[in-house]
Amino acid sequence: MTEETIILQTLTPLWTGGTDGDSNKIHLTGIVGSLRYWYEGIVRVLGGSPCIQVTDSPDEKHSPCRYVVEDSNTSQDLRLCPVCKLFGTTGWKRRFRISMSGLISQPLFFMASRPVQTQTTSWFELIYKSRRIKGGRGILFQSSALWGRAELKIIGDKEAVNRIIALLGFMERFGAIGAKTQNGFGQFKIEPKVTGLLINEEFKALAAEIVRNNDEVSNNNVYFSIQDFFSHTYQLKHHNSYFSQLKAIGEKVPDGAKKLFYPCAFDLRYKNQMRQGRNSGLRQFFKNSKWSKKTAAKLFGTDKKNSWDQNNWASHIHVSHPFRLDQDGNWLLKIWGTVPEGLWNSHEKHPDRNEIESIINEYISGRQGMFPGSTIVCRYKKKDWFNGD
Ligand SMILES: [Zn+2]
Repeated sequence: MTEETIILQTLTPLWTGGTDGDSNKIHLTGIVGSLRYWYEGIVRVLGGSPCIQVTDSPDEKHSPCRYVVEDSNTSQDLRLCPVCKLFGTTGWKRRFRISMSGLISQPLFFMASRPVQTQTTSWFELIYKSRRIKGGRGILFQSSALWGRAELKIIGDKEAVNRIIALLGFMERFGAIGAKTQNGFGQFKIEPKVTGLLINEEFKALAAEIVRNNDEVSNNNVYFSIQDFFSHTYQLKHHNSYFSQLKAIGEKVPDGAKKLFYPCAFDLRYKNQMRQGRNSGLRQFFKNSKWSKKTAAKLFGTDKKNSWDQNNWASHIHVSHPFRLDQDGNWLLKIWGTVPEGLWNSHEKHPDRNEIESIINEYISGRQGMFPGSTIVCRYKKKDWFNGD
């Protein structure tokens, strides 16, 4: 057994779920769930077919793996998908355990542009548990998110522990951890730094497992895959006029919070009016750039309460809150997502990944964009991590 301890510092609040719609304490299932989700995406880009872990899946070919003791003369390699082998499934134990301590719960608050603050407030009221303050002075959230410096312990066999650390290194660079990451939650950094070399080695080892398994490749599905993935981290320029007009929704903004992040991902995704006029968030920017409402809905998911709450991954484009690594650092913003081919089934005209990336660039750093002149400081390039471009 190996035990590794790493420090996970939140850069934007962390949401780990909870049955009552609150995230005031760490739900490790939410952490493990997001690790599994990213691992599935990586297995797919390497040509593997993870099973789908829902019991009533209509997709029989991908129904959840089961490990049955009676067939113990068959090697587990032949019967479990690469994801279940690490994360476990019925009859097969997860090969690692995690524990996490040190985060504190912070009452929820958001920020939105002044002109849209009222309509935004009603949206937040639908999504998060909250109550109205008498006299029309907005709402108070009755839920919290997590914040701070966590000690994260990973315990398991050495191979499993390294695999998880490599996975965390990838998520730190290009994605996020936990739930509601499409809405700004879950940016983090870890210490000690996970090197690109370790990530590459682990992905190579995983690739070898998948070849051994002779899994069939399926690209025509809608599941999360790094195959169709992009990730841009922008270093923001000309952000002051935007930040200074943001107005808080919910609890009074805690001292110091504004020095580290502005919880305004929602505003950037949907509503901001600053540069382009009414409701000109990123989603509207897509609609304005020749793509239909339906295309935008496919990419951003829908606003309906159920799909947001029950399927965290309904959105294919994730926008972080603007954040910085420390109080003197540059302001950063990460936008990432996937555009699986299967998303466009029965949908003839659609933008390809390159086009989506350039629309996002235009919205963020273009001359008429939100933060003109911003530069990309970290960009996912497939060839750095996997074969192909
Ligand atoms: Zn499986």
